[in-house]
Formats: sequence, structure tokens, C-alpha cells
Amino acid sequence: MGNIALDIAQDARIAELLSGFLPGKAIGSWVGGEVLPGTGETVDLIDPASGQPFAAYKDADEAVIDSAMEAAQKAQRQWFALTASARGRVMVEIGRLIRQHAKEIAELECRSAGRPIRDMRGEALRVAEMFEYYAGWCDKLHGEVIPVPTSHLNYTRHEPYGVVVQITPWNAPLFTAGWQIAPAICTGNAVVLKPSELTPLSSLVVGILCERAGAPRGLVNVIAGQGRTAGQAAVGHARAGLVVFVGSALAGSAIAATAARNLVPCILELGGKSGNIVFADADLDRAIVGAQAAIFGAAGQSCVAGSRLLVHRSVHEAFVTKYARAAERIPVGSPLLETTQIGPINNARQWHKIDEMVRRGLADGASLATGGQKPAALADTGGFYYAPTILDRVSPAMEISREEVFGPVVGVTPFDDEEEAIQLANGTPYGLAGAVWTRDVGRAHRVAAAVRAGTFWINGYKTINVMSPFGGFGRSGYGRSSGKEALMAYTQTKSIWVETAAEPPISFGYSPG
Ligand code: NAD
Repeated sequence: MGNIALDIAQDARIAELLSGFLPGKAIGSWVGGEVLPGTGETVDLIDPASGQPFAAYKDADEAVIDSAMEAAQKAQRQWFALTASARGRVMVEIGRLIRQHAKEIAELECRSAGRPIRDMRGEALRVAEMFEYYAGWCDKLHGEVIPVPTSHLNYTRHEPYGVVVQITPWNAPLFTAGWQIAPAICTGNAVVLKPSELTPLSSLVVGILCERAGAPRGLVNVIAGQGRTAGQAAVGHARAGLVVFVGSALAGSAIAATAARNLVPCILELGGKSGNIVFADADLDRAIVGAQAAIFGAAGQSCVAGSRLLVHRSVHEAFVTKYARAAERIPVGSPLLETTQIGPINNARQWHKIDEMVRRGLADGASLATGGQKPAALADTGGFYYAPTILDRVSPAMEISREEVFGPVVGVTPFDDEEEAIQLANGTPYGLAGAVWTRDVGRAHRVAAAVRAGTFWINGYKTINVMSPFGGFGRSGYGRSSGKEALMAYTQTKSIWVETAAEPPISFGYSPG
């Protein structure tokens, strides 16, 4: 290509994985069925497991965004002109292609985003399921006839917004791409997706597979670009009909403000500070495993992470001791190893943010039960590894209890009774998720009803599925983009009035007569 910044062939394995998908040997934006290189700053892609750059691309400029928005608008008209069943068939085919390439896609995400391979295989299949699930909805999304008290036939239609701009973060790029693209195209929209500048590759592959499956060119465009440049340009673009943002509360509020200037609605899926409550009557061994998955899965880089562990005072000490010893046995290491359960943090900036928050937590008076540093065995790797970390005796006023860490760090706070547990769980402006561990059925449901959160688990943690609505309360965002609810979130309802009377009265008011 002549321009080293655009060459993907620097890491042979990544190049090979991508070569089957990406036309040409360059990383750029996937727009209207071709790769468009940007002309902005060079963005290096860094391997989280080694800290080494493995590829680079040029930030998408405004011309790329303009082309993507135009291509999307054109493709959306073609797509919505198809029958609903025809759209469903294309979506089934997208699911089939993702299944067919699940192994390569899983490995690509593992190598480029640092996600453990054992998690990624399952996630690639979950992404296929997202397209299959919404394929089934294509020909079942219809309006209703309303028995209005006039001489009219009144019916509704659920119509697409047109071009949906989607902005996603780096922690689960493949999963999030499927989670947002599938409901958007099911409902007749086209997509301009800007994944995190740090992890664009798996989203590019999904965009390419959508077209290979028979979607019109430009139905799913994927931008390789940065937030403040390409992301802002897409969000504020005159052709944007709906903005969907998954990421931090800070960026979410800036994006919602930009969209609001054009009166464009938003769905916001933001961060969390979820409380995981353990009562003394719980199956404590299971609760320990659940509390590990809650915060150490994906190295804590999960929006629903159970980052506040609230434990009944009568079992608190014994629980924390066992929990810490169990955390020390979790295999941390290369995401490519089958045994690895905790891979690296995605990027150096995030690693330092985590470490600084742990230091401040200790300075604020929390005590270190385990972790708090890079694991000694991985010291020489250059990878961004962080040991599973438990801070005990965290009080609600401490930063570590209030702010999202987005790493494998949990703060433990003891409580005395149910009322205090609920109060602690709700003592945050976030409201994304939460859980309770108890054998008392009545208490389980009382607590589930009382905790302000969009998702809540009883005797479990972290299960989510495309069939079920997902989203936040409070500072964790608004709108739902999965399950049946997404069909409404991704469409606007039109009400149509058909006069059926032979000699209808004409009224100057809102109703005849
Ligand atoms: P981030 O908010 O920094 O970035 C997310 C995306 O927004 C990236 O693509 C980035 O380029 C883009 N962006 C940033 N500023 C922008 C701007 N001004 N205009 C347009 N685009 C902009 O988040 P991150 O650090 O990538 O991800 C971590 C955050 O994501 C955490 O807070 C986490 O909880 C949250 N998250 C939420 C969910 C959910 O569904 N609720 C899921 C995953 C992650």
C-alpha cells in the first residue's frame, strides 16, 4: 500500500485472520461495500497481551463519515422496500456466516482485544444467535388495529428511524456489535457503527459478513475512527435518525447533547457500580464462585461487573478469606491459552487507571485482601495484566465504592440487615445491574424489587441474553436494545386513520360530532 500506517500485514497471524474478510490489505472503514481509508491521525492497534503495536490505520475523516451516512440512507430505502420475510432470510444468512467463521472471529477478537479464547468461542456463537433471534422478528413486527370510537379504521405501523448511528466501547466489541446491529436492521434501519478506535477489527468483520449474506451495500457501515473526530461527526450528522451509544457516562452525556441539538433521540447503555449482596443463609460456596464471575470475568471490564460486594457481617470475615484464596487460584495469563480465565486489561491507560484507583482506595482506608498489582509471573510479558483484587472494609463514601473501576477490582462492605443491604446497593447514581444470594425466596424477591437496576440476578450473576431486555436505570442510561423491547426502541409508531363512513362529518375539532 505504500503507507505503513495502513498495512495490516505487520502481525502475520492477524493479517491471515483478516485477509479472508477485509478486501485489500488495508484497515479502513467499511463503507458502502468497500474499504475507505481515512486521512486523519494514525491510530496504532496494540496487542494487550504484549503491549506491542500490531497494526495501524488512519482516523476516518469527515468525508468518510459523509460517504457512510449517504450509503446508509440509500441502502435503508432498498432494505425497507424488501418484504419483511426477505429481510429475515438475509438475517438468518448473517447468523449462518458468523457461525461458519466463529473460530476465526473468536481468535481475531482474542488477539486484538485480549479477550480469553475460551470466552470468545461462546461469544461468537452468541452473536450469531442475535441475528437469528431478530431474523425471526422481521415478519412478526406489525402494528395493531385500534377500536376508536369514530367511523374510522385506525391502525399503527412501526417504522424505522432510517440511519442509526451506533458508538461502542472496547471491552466486548464483537458482542456489542451484534447486540446493536441485529435489532437495528431487523426493524428496517441502516447502521453506521463506530466501534472503539482501539478495537475496530471484529466489528469490521461483522459489517462485511452482513453484506456477504445479501444485505444491500451500505446497510451496515463500520467506521475505523476516533470518538472525538469520527464519532462526533457521525452523531451530529444531518442524516442521523437515531443514536445508540454504549460506553461511559461521560461520553454518553456529551453524545446525547450533540444528538439533542438536532433533536435526534438516543439510546444510552452506560456504565455501572453494581451491588452483589450475600446474605448469611446463602449457599456460600456458590456465592463465592458467583462473586468471582461477577467481577473477575472479562478482567472486570464489563459494564455489569459486580464491583461492590455486600456481605452480611456474620459471615463477612470467613467469606472474604475464602474469596481471596479462591481469587488467587484463577488462571491469569495469555488470552490465547485454553486455561486462561483472566486475560489482560485492554489498554495501558486503563491499566494505570485501575492501579491508581486501587492505590487511592488503600489510602482511603480499605484493606487489601489480595491482588493490587501485576501478577509476578507475568511481570516480564509487557502485557497489561492485573491480578484479581479484593479490597475489604470499603465504606460507601470511598471513591472505590462510588466510581466505576472497569477492572478486576471488587470492594467489600459488610452490612447488618436487609434494609441496610438495599440501602447500600441503591447508594449509587448508577443502576445497571445487581444480585442477591439467599435461600429465603421471599427475601430474594423483596430485594430484587427494591434494588434500582435494569438487570437483577437471584443466586447467580452476569447472564444476559438477546431475548431479554437489557439497559440501565439512572446514570446507567436509558432505552433498551435487546429482546422484544428493542423493536419499539428502534422504531417510531405511525397512526393511520381511514375514513369509512359514507357521509363523514367534517369537524374543526379533534373529534367529529
Ligand atoms: P468511552 O465512553 O470512552 O468510549 C466509548 C465509545 O465512544 C468509543 O467508541 C469512543 O471512541 C466513543 N466516544 C468517546 N467520546 C466520544 C464523543 N465525544 N463523541 C462520539 N464518540 C465518542 O468508553 P470506553 O472506555 O470505550 O468503555 C468503557 C465504558 O463503557 C465503561 O463505562 C463501561 O461500563 C461502558 N459499557 C457499558 C455497557 C452497557 O451496555 N451498559 C457495555 C459495555 C461497556
